[in-house]
Amino acid sequence: MHWIEKVVEELENYIATTKNKTKQDTIIINGGLSVSGLQHIGRLRGEIIISETVRKLLERKGYRVKQYLVLYTQDAWKGKESQVMSFGDEREGRKYAGWPLIRVPDPKKCHANWVEHYWEDFGGYLDKFTDGKIEVVTTTELYKTKLKDIVKEAINKKEKLRITINKYRGRNPYPEEWIPFEPICDKCGRIDKAKAIKYYPDTEEVEYICENCGHRGKTSIANGKLNWRIEWASIWKVLNIDFEPFGKDHATPGGSRDSCVDLSINVFETKPPMGLAYEWVSLRVNGKEFDMGSSDFLGITPKDWYQVAHPEVLRYLYLKEHPRRKVVIDMTLIPNYYEEFYRAESLYYDAMKTHGNLESLPENEYEIAKTYELSMLEPIPSEKPIQPSYLTIALAVQLVPTDNLAENVVKRLKSSRIIPQELRPFDKKRITDIAWRAKNWVEKYASPQIRFTLLQQLSEELKAKLMYRDLLLRLGEELLKLGENWSEESIKDVMIKVTQGLKDDEKKAFYKEFYIIIIGKEFGPRAAPLIEILGQDFVKKRFIEDLS
Ligand SMILES: [Zn+2]
Ligand SMILES: [Zn+2]
Repeated sequence: MHWIEKVVEELENYIATTKNKTKQDTIIINGGLSVSGLQHIGRLRGEIIISETVRKLLERKGYRVKQYLVLYTQDAWKGKESQVMSFGDEREGRKYAGWPLIRVPDPKKCHANWVEHYWEDFGGYLDKFTDGKIEVVTTTELYKTKLKDIVKEAINKKEKLRITINKYRGRNPYPEEWIPFEPICDKCGRIDKAKAIKYYPDTEEVEYICENCGHRGKTSIANGKLNWRIEWASIWKVLNIDFEPFGKDHATPGGSRDSCVDLSINVFETKPPMGLAYEWVSLRVNGKEFDMGSSDFLGITPKDWYQVAHPEVLRYLYLKEHPRRKVVIDMTLIPNYYEEFYRAESLYYDAMKTHGNLESLPENEYEIAKTYELSMLEPIPSEKPIQPSYLTIALAVQLVPTDNLAENVVKRLKSSRIIPQELRPFDKKRITDIAWRAKNWVEKYASPQIRFTLLQQLSEELKAKLMYRDLLLRLGEELLKLGENWSEESIKDVMIKVTQGLKDDEKKAFYKEFYIIIIGKEFGPRAAPLIEILGQDFVKKRFIEDLS
């Protein structure tokens, strides 16, 4: 069984026994995000992709399921250094500290506010990374609608609430006169400093004193928020949530998940959703690994990923790994991720061809093939698509004219005998979808070795300096003998054969010259894929005619 199928099984059990729901009821799945800054791909893992996959698996079993994503837009803008600096002007930035995120202006001035600006490269791509059936709601909206009654409930039960929540507040307990509501100060705009001192049930307002500006005023209970623990438990109740994954920071014993379960059961008298803790996704850049952080503006967005790779490949990386294991993303490894994805795809097609199902596979292979199936967003073609190497396409895009890029790449791959002459529509689509992305990848993430421009002409001067001219010529002859058998593997074999008499340092010197005569510098992409894409005409010209 795939780990996510086990989660679904456990959830079915939870729904039936704890939540007392049947297949006639709608099952509710939720995720939550605070738009405090850059929305990175790590946030797609638990809140979006795992949740969406659980939903789809439940739907296949005949359940009706609804999936929400709650944006915590009433949260206070912390005014961290990096957030302040996004305004460019430090004095302007500092002004907004403590404001609800939704009221903070867009530092780049292109959207209505901070949230909309940073949401665009994430929210605008949700339907590319999922089937799009996710309803996004903001806490700002919820406080005006569904959460209103629960704010009243919280205020009515404030003593019980206080005793329960104080168990988790250590040396900072709420005092007896505490009112569980955090209003926005009308004067200075902060949501983190105004203290509610009296509740008026008739008008549904609170009176408050602002500890920041000293203002004393009255405001509606729609104009503020609950303490975050109470808020989370309240959302579970009003949306009637059955399943919600959460980041590992909430998972510590006595931590936020535990405290909200306590509030849920003992104060709000409702059953909390089943949870699922998941690990962070970190990013590796230049060999250094770090956690992506929203308010630190560290990480890559779904848009960034989409520009260089299929969403399905990221889905594959996330769904393959058990949620408690860390996923490390290295953007220089995009070609390797494709290779891994292709291997899973092959396993899937082999199983379907041999057994007609995946269940007959051994456990570890089943997980891989199943992950592939769950990663796919479009219907899976009945025949296996071709699997063009991402790296090869990344080399090809550097060799062909950029207008009609995909067409030119296809032509190039055909003339180098890398792909068949006849392409099915889904083959062509795959190459097309990779071509423009690989071009972006070369420009943005590829290591310097991979970037090159072809040396147009081999000068006499350069030729005269070559130490391994004869051997390079021989390499050319041997390569041309490959004829129809032109592949990365066979090319590699030829190169090994031709250079086997050389000592290590000689081999190094030989390869320097190999690259110099092709791209004019001493290093470049791996030799075999480079030769493969350059093709036999090039080898004939550069290695035979030019060197003779
Ligand atoms: Zn903007
Ligand atoms: Zn104030």
